[in-house]
Order: sequence, then structure tokens, then C-alpha cells
Amino acid sequence: MPPPDPTTLVSRLAAGRDDRLVHLEHVPARVGTAVGWPDWVDPDLRDAWTRGGIELPWAHQAEAAELAHDGRHVVVATGTASGKSLAYLMPALTAALEGSRAPNGRGATVLYLSPTKALAHDQWRAVDELGLPSLRASAYDGDTPDEERAWIRGHASYVLTNPDLLHRSMLPGHERWASFLRQLRYVVVDECHVYKGVFGSHVGNVLRRLRRVASRYGAEPTFVLASATSGDPAGSASRLVGLDVVAVADDASPRGSTSFALWEPPLTDGGGENGAPVRRTATAETASLLTDLVIEGVRTLAFVRSRRGAEAVAMTARDTLAEVDPDLVDRVAAYRAGYLPEERRALEAALRDGELIGVAATNALELGVDLTGLDAVLLCGWPGTRASMWQQAGRAGRSGGDALAVLVARDDPLDTYLVHHPEAIFGSGVEATVCDPSNPYVLGPHLCAAAAELPLTDDDLPMFGPTTRDVVDALVARGLLRVRPGGWFWTRQERASDLADLRGIGGGMVRVVEDGTGRLLGTVDPGAAHTTVHTGAVYVHQGATYLVDNLDLEDSVALAHREDVDFTTSARDTTDIRVVDEIGRTAWGDAELVHGHVEVTNQVVAYLKRRYLTGAVLGEEPLDLPPRHLRTQAVWWTVTPGMLTAAGLRDLDVPGAAHAAEHASIGLLPLVATCDRWDIGGVSTALHPDTGRATVFVYDGHPGGAGFAERGYAAARTWLTATREAIASCECRDGCPSCVQSPKCGNGNEPLDKAGAVRLLDVLLAGAPTP
Ligand SMILES: [Zn+2]
Ligand SMILES: [Zn+2]
Repeated sequence: MPPPDPTTLVSRLAAGRDDRLVHLEHVPARVGTAVGWPDWVDPDLRDAWTRGGIELPWAHQAEAAELAHDGRHVVVATGTASGKSLAYLMPALTAALEGSRAPNGRGATVLYLSPTKALAHDQWRAVDELGLPSLRASAYDGDTPDEERAWIRGHASYVLTNPDLLHRSMLPGHERWASFLRQLRYVVVDECHVYKGVFGSHVGNVLRRLRRVASRYGAEPTFVLASATSGDPAGSASRLVGLDVVAVADDASPRGSTSFALWEPPLTDGGGENGAPVRRTATAETASLLTDLVIEGVRTLAFVRSRRGAEAVAMTARDTLAEVDPDLVDRVAAYRAGYLPEERRALEAALRDGELIGVAATNALELGVDLTGLDAVLLCGWPGTRASMWQQAGRAGRSGGDALAVLVARDDPLDTYLVHHPEAIFGSGVEATVCDPSNPYVLGPHLCAAAAELPLTDDDLPMFGPTTRDVVDALVARGLLRVRPGGWFWTRQERASDLADLRGIGGGMVRVVEDGTGRLLGTVDPGAAHTTVHTGAVYVHQGATYLVDNLDLEDSVALAHREDVDFTTSARDTTDIRVVDEIGRTAWGDAELVHGHVEVTNQVVAYLKRRYLTGAVLGEEPLDLPPRHLRTQAVWWTVTPGMLTAAGLRDLDVPGAAHAAEHASIGLLPLVATCDRWDIGGVSTALHPDTGRATVFVYDGHPGGAGFAERGYAAARTWLTATREAIASCECRDGCPSCVQSPKCGNGNEPLDKAGAVRLLDVLLAGAPTP
């Protein structure tokens, strides 16, 4: 018996659950628009694609390919499964084939970059399967045998690798790549939305080094980037490569229709900090919805952020089913990364055959697993970006039928805002992938690496950004670079490229080690160690919980032991902030909005234990940790005493109003920048000594900044308007985790004035320029 249609299903789910269905969006099916092959595409290549079942390209593929072929830097930013690879493969493989057939054997070359080795190998296989013997394509990475390396450098025309290899091997050893680099026609940057924050800032510098070295060999390659959909693909890509990039974002591939429900679990009384109400957790709500759908016989996949959460959803659903219909208990399971391949395949098959009806999975399933043809998908909490959301929702929809997707809001300001503002989810969107390659902490090591590759000259400086000269001078002062008549030189013995760690900032990761066995459980960024692996912290490793016995700061080791606990821990800290300088400033009436450098001093002083499933507070323990200093970027806004009066705020009310506005604004920044609220911090004060006014700061949690605060400054009106809305539309009375309470608050969420925060933001936004 086929399951009921999505609309019927949704009304059955909503029956008896008053007001939880906040919105139902019908996302219509889209008919694909195919166009002719560009006439310059190599005929052998076109035949190979036609044989493989691609009759004609979609319009967005052809448009991006034409732009690249004309030498325009281009980013194709369309949905999952829209065939972004064909867009870059048309120009890239046409050039590579031409290169392979050149009379001297060395014509045009292409460099393909992917964030992971595995993806590069997948792409290599896909190119290989085209069956074009004259195409000399090869992956080149840490696993490439030595004997093949020289051949690839000398003869391959399509080389697939990753930014790490470019950074550590290809650029430092560029002489050996001279013939390849001299002919470099295209650089393909696949999955470029992954390059965000500090990692993106590093990769941005690696790409600038590549451009500099290539140009020394006379090559000016065209960049072709592929990205998930985002708010400002052209801006993000331009910043990543340091060139003007045009975007192709009109997806012309076909898709089925989806009924998309936005769902908000109900508030429950008390249990929260300071007696605040908390919402029923998204995990518990997802388990209930999964149970109901399984009873209806609807094949459902629930996406849950953590493995522990996925297991809790499956277990809770099974427990409920045991009471209703014991036959259904074994038709629900959890599925997570870490299963053996045969276990995964067995689960996949069971779900396909209908032997399993409900599965709770972690997001790991997003990538590379073949699970389609489901009837419904549950998203337990906002998955972070619209691209991830569509990727997960896209799992539903059997053979073109209407699919059901339900986004269950977590108890935080961003999820609350999103379920109440469907236009932010289904509209054109404002979230942008950001990075900041000019961050001196990131730029410095890359300038050393660049100087080691080829001496740096005055002409090289502009491509690395406006602050480059200052950073170079500082490197000279530290004895890392030397000034000589030909420019700045690296003259030290060690490898300059070792100074930059693309996947982290600075060295000194804190290792988390199992007590007794010495087994390494994981590593933690030193900036996060005090808050996440302090003595007494719960550390989760592959779904299992460990308790930290001791954090040794001298040796950068946290010792932990395995223990099943039903609580989580969160650190309590104190934070001071000092303004170092201003980068940008805008007047909003009498208010001021500023972007600049700050120094943050933070000290973790205690931690709080909470019940895992309900979030109820169990107790607080003191900690003795030294203060830490962070030089970073912040966005801040100040208001005058007159504005505070206009907002009806007495002196007494200001700290609570500003603090509540700060919390909610941290929660909402991911709406405009692809960061997590854990990547940023905030400070609010009724009177800040450096501004002389009531001030709210939001800062990047990484040394030097990662572009998030800067993006907040650029999109301030959208960001703070949404912040105001999120607070105002929450139905709690005095503040709760869905609006102004924060799980990472250093002050135990006190004082907080919900109503005051709305009035404060109103007077601030009254002066904001209309767009
Ligand atoms: Zn609330
Ligand atoms: Zn706070």
C-alpha cells in the first residue's frame, strides 16, 4: 500500500500537536532546460558523454563553460546533483586533450583541486571512465608512488590534487613542475564553499602563491570554481582567489517537488537556567515524528547532528513502538559513520526493500552513500547551511513523486528565526561563505613560503592584500625575511611552508588521550581547550562519552576515561575586550556601527552540568585556569544615553538589554555568514571605557579573525533586523534558549532583559540606512 500523500501526512502529524507546524512550503518541481553543446567542445569528449547518457548539457553548465572558455574566471553555484562538474570539465578536458595532442607533447594543462584526496580520486575515476586514451590525467598526492611522480610532472595534462599538496610540495618544488606550469590554462577549484573561515583564508593564500608562481612561468590560468548554493557566490569566490569572478547560479537541472514542513517543538515549563522555560528537544520531537511515520508505513530517514543524538532518536522511537506495535520495533535502526562497509550496505538494502522503515542517521550520510527513494526526511535541527539542507531533503522522493521533508527546530535563536521566516530558507538567501586571506596570522607564514618559492618584490605585494607591506616588515623585524636588492628573501634552513598549517592555526593542538591505555582520542584547537576539555568536561568521541580527569596545559594533553554519563558540560567564563583600532565605521543616526581589531581576555572559571536529553541544570563546579588573550576582529555597535532613554531603558535595565541583544545576535550571525555560533563570541557592557557608550561586541574566535565579524559589519542591517525579530517572535515571557539565553554564556545567563533587548534594537535599527 503506498503511503499517504505529504499533505495528508503533515495534517496527521500535526493533529493533536497544537501550533507545532509553523509553516508548510510546497517547493514545486522544476523542469530542466537543456541547451546545445558549445561548438568548441572536443568531439571525442562530447561523444563520450553522449555514450554515458548525457544527451545535452543543462543551460547553467553551458553558460559557465562558455565563460571559462572565454577566459573569464567563473563560479558555478547550483544545487546538489545539478551537474556542476560538467560545467568545468567541458573547457578543462577540451584544453587537456588539446594539450596531450600538442606536437611537442606539452600543450595546455589543467590543475584540479579538491578539499580531500578521496574526492580527487573519485573525479579521476570519472574522467578515466570517459575512455579517452589520449587524455593524460592523473591524481597526484601523498599516495602517488615515487616512480609515477616524475612522469606526471613531465607529461600529464590534467592533474588532480588538493591544496595541501600544492602548499607543501608543488609550489616549493615549482622548478620540477616548470613545463606543467608554463602551459597552465585552467585551475579548477571544486567544492569551494568548504574553504571558509581560517581554512579558507589559508587556501586563499595558497591560490595567490600559485598565481604568482604560474605568472613567473608566463601563465595566467583561468579559475573555474564549483560551489554549493550560497548568498554571494561571486563575492566569496573573488575573495578566495583574489580575482574578479562571475557567478552562474541559475540552476537549470530538473528536480521533483517537495512538501517542506517547518516544525517547532513546544515550550515546556521550567527546567532551564534561572527558571526559564525550555523547548522540548529537537531530538525528542524527531523521535516522536519518526515513530508516527513508521506507524504510517512511511519510509523515513532522520538526520541528526551527532551520533549520540541519532542513537537516542532510534532508541526512543523503538521504545515507543514497543508499546504501540511490537512488530515495528525492529524496523527502526540507527545508522552512522564508522560502520563497516558490509554493515552499511546491509542497512541500505534493508531500507530499500522496506524491511527497515525508519532510520536515524548522522550527517555523515550526506556524502557518498547511496540511499534514495525514501518517502520522508526529518531534519533534526538546522543543518548549518541551505546547501546542506537541500542535500538532506533531497534524499526523499520516490521516482518523481512528491516528497515530504520536515525541519524540526532546535531550541536556539537561529532555528527559531528560520522556522518563523520561511523566506530566509526558501528565498534567495543571504548566507555567504567568508574567509579573510589578509589575516596577518595566516598571511605571514604564506609570505615566507612565497619568498622561499621566489623572492618577493614590491610588485607582488598588492595581490596579497592592502596590509601586506606591514606584515612583510614585521617578518623582517622578526628575522624571518631578509631585505636584499632583489626583494625579500627567505634565507633560513627550515622549510618555509612548514610555518603554515592549512587545517589549523598555529601549532600546539591539545591532544585528548585515554587514561591508562594512552590511546589518542582526538585533538582540540588550543583556543577551545579551556572550554571543551577542562577537568571534569564530558568529551564525546565516536559517540562514546569520556570524562576529562586532568587538563595539562604545559604538555598540551587532556587525560580522559571512558564513562557513560547522561549529562553534558558547558564552561563558564569571564571576558574583557579592548579596542585596538578601527577598520570601518558607519553612523546609524546617533548610533555607531564599527568593524575593527580588538584584544579579548578570557578566563574560564567554572563549568555547568546539564541533563543530556532535557538540558536541565544539575550543578556548577569551579575551575582554576589562567586567562588567555586573543587578538582578533570584531563588529560592535554603540548607542548614546539619549537613545537608551528613548528606548525606555533605565540605567538599571541597560546591562540586561544589551546582554540579551548580544546573545541573540551571536545566534543569528550564521544567517549571514557560514559560521557556527561556537566560532564567535561576544561582550556587552552598559559603558565601555574605549567607546564611552553602551556597547555590544561580537568577535571572531580565531586569532586575527576569520571574516565572520567583517561579514556581520557588511550585512549588519539584515543581521540585526533578524536578531530583533528572533527575540520579538519568541512566545516565552522573559527569555529562553530559543531567543536570548545562550548555552555558552559566561555569566550564567544573567542579567537578561528580553523586552529591553527588543526596544534597544528598535532604537538602533531606526537609524539604519534603508537598503
Ligand atoms: Zn524565548
Ligand atoms: Zn552571556
